[in-house]
Amino acid sequence: MEKSVLELSMTPGDGEHCLECGRELTRDEIGLHKKMINRGSVQYLCITCLAAYYSTTEEHMQERIRHFREQGCLLFQ
Ligand SMILES: [Zn+2]
Repeated sequence: MEKSVLELSMTPGDGEHCLECGRELTRDEIGLHKKMINRGSVQYLCITCLAAYYSTTEEHMQERIRHFREQGCLLFQ
């Protein structure tokens, strides 16, 4: 059976590249993944793959990052 994104994100890896497409990650993308998938993740999805995972747009994901930052979330500083 294929592993879920949640399982994959908890599996040790380099943590610097998207689990799905291999693109290099930004701090915001890592923070967003932690907020939305699991705080204890050690591997992450980029914003594009995260948007696809939630069947939404990248723009909507950028909105969420802004929202979390406005709340003063420590993951987005
Ligand atoms: Zn990706």
